This record gives sequence, structure tokens and C-alpha cells, in this order.
Amino acid sequence: MERVVILGAGVSGLSSAALLRERGYEVTLFEAADRIGGLARSFEWHGFSCDIAPHRLFTHDAEALDYLLRLVPMHKHRRRSSIFIAGKKVHDPVNPVDLILRLPPRISSKLVRDYLFKPRLPEESFENLALNKFGRGLYDLFFEPYTRKMFGVSPAEISVEWGRQKLRTSGLRDVFRRNSKIFFRHFYYPQQGGYGAICEALYDKVGDRVELEARVTGLETADGKVTAVRYEQDGASHSFACDRLVSTIPATVLGSMLGHEFTLRFQPVTLVYLLFDKPSVMPYHWIYFGDGDVVINRMAEFKNFARGGVPEDRTVVVAEVTSTTDDPLGDVLAAFERYDLAHRDEVLDSLLIHESFGYPVYDRHYELAVEDARQVFGAFENLHLVGRNAEFRHIEVDEDLASAMNLVRQLTRSQATVE
Ligand SMILES: Cc1cc2nc3c(=O)[nH]c(=O)nc-3n(C[C@H](O)[C@H](O)[C@H](O)COP(=O)(O)OP(=O)(O)OC[C@H]3O[C@@H](n4cnc5c(N)ncnc54)[C@H](O)[C@@H]3O)c2cc1C
Repeated sequence: MERVVILGAGVSGLSSAALLRERGYEVTLFEAADRIGGLARSFEWHGFSCDIAPHRLFTHDAEALDYLLRLVPMHKHRRRSSIFIAGKKVHDPVNPVDLILRLPPRISSKLVRDYLFKPRLPEESFENLALNKFGRGLYDLFFEPYTRKMFGVSPAEISVEWGRQKLRTSGLRDVFRRNSKIFFRHFYYPQQGGYGAICEALYDKVGDRVELEARVTGLETADGKVTAVRYEQDGASHSFACDRLVSTIPATVLGSMLGHEFTLRFQPVTLVYLLFDKPSVMPYHWIYFGDGDVVINRMAEFKNFARGGVPEDRTVVVAEVTSTTDDPLGDVLAAFERYDLAHRDEVLDSLLIHESFGYPVYDRHYELAVEDARQVFGAFENLHLVGRNAEFRHIEVDEDLASAMNLVRQLTRSQATVE
């Protein structure tokens, strides 16, 4: 049977390994970090299981859902979320009547007027798409500042494709029924261990094949195939032969191993974790911060995802920051005070985590760059890409898993044909 080497032990690498192993493949995973899970990991902090920002499972993929629910016991939650916009807390998803009633008349009348007189611009950027769909009022109030905060550039610089994928909406009423997939009312979340319980359960199946603290630094190729990977572990360089390579590491990192620089950009994200000396900060799972002058995109309170066994008199929240700031902690605390969520005197401890590959940025030229990457990687018949940053797709765990399932189906089919 073929020896498959897998780069990365996040959910894509681990699920590819588990599925391939079930079908008899000999798998070996190389993971640069000293722990598994990648962006979907969890860690214990002051008695709470903390994730990298809020992570939750909602999917329309019945096969992926079934696999994940058999893998990990999960609770089904009814979503409780809210949005701060123009300094006011409004319902999530936005209800136009609620929005108009809560916002100052000066703003709400402009929203309605501009919605009624929407322009018809050529759909060549996310800016034009949002203006065409919602009008200038909502664009200026939400889309412009939130996109700038999220990606560091104006919506004019973002691909229309981003809008087409993220705004599966029809009108003003649906505008905030977004985030990454079609609006969802319920989601699943592991009963214990945070979202990282998914990766831990996969690790149980393939842990003996995972090399931790093994950073892959280069590939050896011959005759249109990858023949081996080079990696560093314990201060020494090694080479490991493979019949097939599955990469789940960022496309740009893999590209540079093959001598190519792609013009693909990832938006880094900083997570600010705060331990509060009080039982609760908010009744929601998460809150969005629409205002452009606040660095937080979203905050979440872990206690509201899983209550079992956590300290009753304390709570931990995470704030997600993609804006450029020299002082994420200070800015997050200032925002908490501004929105009257908590006071800095109540903070017992804080922790900052920085992830360099948070979000693939769909800028206006990304499709050409993705095509360029496809050409380069496609030249190697035994090289496969699985997952969010490897494929440069803004996808989530269920879709990472679906991608792994597709790969395994494809390989199993071609194996059967060869036999
Ligand atoms: C802020 C945020 C919120 C999210 N919210 C949700 C959510 O609510 N629900 C959801 O389902 N998903 C969510 N996601 C998406 C989800 O986290 C990802 O889809 C998923 O974790 C991607 O897994 P992966 O294995 O493809 O990549 P990664 O998790 O990035 O794993 C890649 C692994 O490769 C390793 N690696 C990198 N370079 C090398 C190298 N040279 N050698 C060896 N190893 C290497 C890394 O250390 C890492 O462990 C969110 C993501 C972010 C950033």
C-alpha cells in the first residue's frame, strides 16, 4: 500500500490521516508545532477550555455532520448572539424594524432612503456588490468599516466573489444573516474539551503516526512527483520518502518550498483572552462589533458554550482582533468599557495569542493567484491539497473534513482502477 505523508496536524491533516488509515494506507504526519489541532485547537486556561476565537459547528453537509457527531459527543445550541452597531446593541440577525427603532433617526432614515435608491454599479468589487444590494447607508455603516477591520483594506479592494459567497442574501432584512455560511439558528459544540475535542478524537485514531515539532522545510521531486519531504526535528535535518503527499499547510508556504512566490495574502489574527472576576460578562455566545473605531471583530464567552465543570464565580472571554494595533489588550479593554461590558479592574489575568494565517484574503486578484498556485501544484501528480489555508478557501471544519473525504474517495477510486 502507498506511503502517504501529510503536512500539518490540524483538522484537515488529522482527518485525512484517519480516513486514509481506515482504508489501509500507511500514513505519517509532520507537525511543526508541539501540539496538534492547528486553528481548531483548544487549550485549558484557568479551568476553561478555550478555542482560537469562537468556533462552532453548523453545516448543511449531512455526511460531514454525521461523521463529526459520531466522533465527538456534542450539544446542540440555540444561537444567542448580538451586534454592536453605531454604538447600539441590535439583534443578530438584524431585523430592519429593530435596526430602525434602535438607531438614531438620522442614521435609520438614511438607511431606508439609500436602500430604496440603490445604485446599479458594475459588479467588479465587493464594494459595488454591497452598494448595489444594500445602498450607501448600510455600506457606510457596516460593510466599509467591518471589511477594513477584517482585512485591512477597503471593500473596493476585495473580490466580488467574497460577496457572492458570503452575502447569500436577498435584501436588507437578511444583511447580517451572514458571517461565513447561510444564516444558522442552531449549532453544535462538543460537550467537553472545547472545539479542539474534534481534533483530539481524530488524534486518538492516528496519534502513533504523528511527528510533533517536525517542521517540513523542503520537498524532493523527480519526474513530476514528490518523492520525499525534508524536515527538521530535535535540531537535526531529515528526509522522509513518500509515494503521495497531502499538504494542509498554507499554500504560500508550500509554494516557497517549490521555489514559487504566490501573491496570496493571509490576514493575521490576534486573540485576546481575559479572565474576569465575575460569573458572567454577557448572555450571548458571541457578539459582533460593527463599528470601525473599535478593534474587536467578535468576542465570545466560553462558559456559554459548555457549562460543565467550569468555575462558577469566574468567566473567560476571547476578543478577536484583526486590526493593526500596537496595544491589542489596551484597545480591547477600552472597548469593553465603552460598551459597558466589563471594567478593567475586574480582569484577573490576560493572554494574547497571535495566528499569522487567520483568514485567506479574497482580494481582487486572488483568483488569478489561486490559478497560478493550481498550475504549480498540479504539475505534481501525487501532490494533494486539503483544507482552508492549503486550498486558500475561506472554509470551516466541516468543509475541511469534506475536502479530506473527497480526496480519500478519489484515491480509493484510482487505487481500485489500478488493482
Ligand atoms: C478566527 C477563526 C474563527 C473560526 N471559526 C470557525 C468556526 O466557528 N467553526 C469552524 O468549523 N471553523 C472555524 N474556523 C476555521 C477552522 O479553524 C479552520 O477551517 C480549520 O482549523 C483549518 O484546519 P487545517 O487543518 O486545514 O489548517 P490549520 O489548522 O492551519 O493546520 C495546519 C497545521 O500545519 C502546521 N504547519 C504549518 N507549517 C508547517 C510546516 N512547515 N511543517 C509542518 N507543519 C506545519 C501548523 O502548525 C498547523 O497545525 C475559524 C478560523 C479562524 C481563524
